[in-house]
Amino acid sequence: MLDAPKNRPDLPAEIARRRTFAIISHPDAGKTTLTEKFLLYGGAIQMAGQVRAKGEARRTRSDFMQMEKDRGISVSASAMSFDYGDFRFNLVDTPGHSDFSEDTYRTLTAVDAAVMVIDGAKGVESQTQKLFEVCRLRDLPILTFCNKMDRESRDTFEIIDEIQENLAIDVTPASWPIGTGRDFLGCYDLLRDRLELMDRADRNKVAESIKIEGLDDPLLERHIPADLLDKLREEVEMARALLPPMDSQALLEGTLTPIWFGSAINSFGVKELMDGIGIYGPEPQVQAAEPRQIAPEETKVTGFVFKVQANMDPKHRDRVAFLRLASGHFQRGMKLTHVRTKKPMAVSNPVLFLASDRELAEEAWAGDIIGIPNHGQLRIGDTLTEGESLRVSGIPSFAPELLQNCRAGDPMKAKHLEKALMQFAEEGAAKVFKPAIGSGFVVGVVGQLQFEVLASRIELEYGLPVRFESSQFTSARWVTGPKAAVDKFVNANKGHISHDNDGDIVYMTRLQWDIDRIARDYPEVTLSATKEMQ
Ligand code: GDP
Repeated sequence: MLDAPKNRPDLPAEIARRRTFAIISHPDAGKTTLTEKFLLYGGAIQMAGQVRAKGEARRTRSDFMQMEKDRGISVSASAMSFDYGDFRFNLVDTPGHSDFSEDTYRTLTAVDAAVMVIDGAKGVESQTQKLFEVCRLRDLPILTFCNKMDRESRDTFEIIDEIQENLAIDVTPASWPIGTGRDFLGCYDLLRDRLELMDRADRNKVAESIKIEGLDDPLLERHIPADLLDKLREEVEMARALLPPMDSQALLEGTLTPIWFGSAINSFGVKELMDGIGIYGPEPQVQAAEPRQIAPEETKVTGFVFKVQANMDPKHRDRVAFLRLASGHFQRGMKLTHVRTKKPMAVSNPVLFLASDRELAEEAWAGDIIGIPNHGQLRIGDTLTEGESLRVSGIPSFAPELLQNCRAGDPMKAKHLEKALMQFAEEGAAKVFKPAIGSGFVVGVVGQLQFEVLASRIELEYGLPVRFESSQFTSARWVTGPKAAVDKFVNANKGHISHDNDGDIVYMTRLQWDIDRIARDYPEVTLSATKEMQ
């Protein structure tokens, strides 16, 4: 393997070998296929989230999965850990559909880098662009994989130009494709001066790589037809003259992305990408928090919850909070402090997840993700420490863009409905508002599809048919300000006031005009479209 300069040479080895990242892509670009190949090369598979549970659970889950599949979306995020060479990879799955941007955003707060997968024939598509913008907000380092090179794909320079222009990021080729479609032979590895040929016969294996002494090496002629070789030499010369070279620092700062070309389905280019993640990808990074930031090498353990998933096992009705460790060496049974409630919490049954089962996590290090089963104490945005009052910052909650009233099919089951809705609210799957006047609930989501997913989950997981109906309101804003001013505002606007699932006050309306008026009439009251989870 190559040596690359590391930005934090002082990290303990166990932390330094960790790479925690997500894959972002447009649906159909090949994220699932690439993930499978990662797991294949990673050997032992441990995954959280979309697991095949047993028995009864399997049926429920797979029904739900079927719905995901029919829609071509991935509804819930998950995390998988595996070793690759000297490295420990933590791959955090992002929900793929645009409706789930808030969940995706929060998932991306838990990783140190992203792998962007694009389809070689399609280039940068809408969803890639959106997800990229989210990564950009945090200057996340991005490594790019251009997939499906075994199909007719676009000109290599054209693809690179498109990324540079549409995403405003410099691109450096880590490999260069030889031929395209049926004539695709493989890639020239620009970082290691090696020829990698694709083996079409065996989809799970890569043909051995051939060590080359530069592009003038006569060995090349044995493997590449003359016309393709001329083209390769010409293009690589141009690429080296025109495009920036690999620069680890620029990658870490999020201003340069290396691109590998390959075919996930043929397992081609995947190892090179994985090597790249290991060699150039960032180790666990410093975490923003209040009142001070957290460095991964600190000996005390800190972590934050970026996702909560309820009913992973309907038999137990438990919830799992996904905790990203920001620092230290965690050991099973540790007593941590739940900073929001200041209560101690013995973490005696943390889990990593195998593909088909859960496994106890005996230990974990900064950068790792562990699941903590709980009965609802842990919420998104919560911080756990060894006693210090630290709060991880930058995990937002966004005002929903769509609001609907939710009613139980059977009016006698309203209490059950409340319980189900609260559970999904804590999972971050929806916002639930209880109006100050009247009965029922208003549910807020970011995309229409989420209503259908919710209805289906409430029915599957609680046996409760529900109806979503249009609401008189279209916007929700969190209300903050000095208590007296807020009380006065609330009293004068009772018909518009609700409480969210955390008990915070929310103002609902269907008119932007109302929001503008309040800004004028109640200068001390702030209406905001985001609130920080805490
Ligand atoms: P996702 O929606 O991004 O998760 O994409 P999938 O991994 O499900 O892939 C979408 C489709 O593209 C599937 O039919 C895959 O078999 C196919 N596919 C994935 N990788 C490749 C590839 O390298 N070459 C070709 N020809 N097809 C691929």
